[in-house]
Amino acid sequence: MDCIFCKIADGSITADVVYESDFVIAFRDLNAQAPHHILIIPRKHIATMNDFDVEDAAVFGMLGQAARAIAADLGVAEDGYRLVLNCNQDGGQTVFHTHMHFMAGRPFTWPPG
Ligand code: AMP
Repeated sequence: MDCIFCKIADGSITADVVYESDFVIAFRDLNAQAPHHILIIPRKHIATMNDFDVEDAAVFGMLGQAARAIAADLGVAEDGYRLVLNCNQDGGQTVFHTHMHFMAGRPFTWPPG
């Protein structure tokens, strides 16, 4: 399978990794939209949010756990941060290995564009 995020997860493509565990890995986005813009991905290839099975529920929880740990590590937990998960065309998804965007270091507006 030719998936760039699987290659980052298995180490065959380098990335600026900020967090990893047996189940998830997080690295800085190449096209950062905030002072801290990090992608948190499951190591398992799950193409979109629609492809999460019930047995993946724990992995989804680990994405949240990673976000909490990264926020603490960067010292942004109190100021806050934004988590975004895009799904398919209308959601704006461009890489089909599902991922959570972690963005921090500036205020964000609502609603998003
Ligand atoms: P999305 O549009 O939600 O699918 O987000 C995909 C994100 O992946 C974009 O913000 C890209 O800048 C980012 N991206 C694509 N390739 C890489 C890479 N090799 N390393 C880091 N970030 C990447």
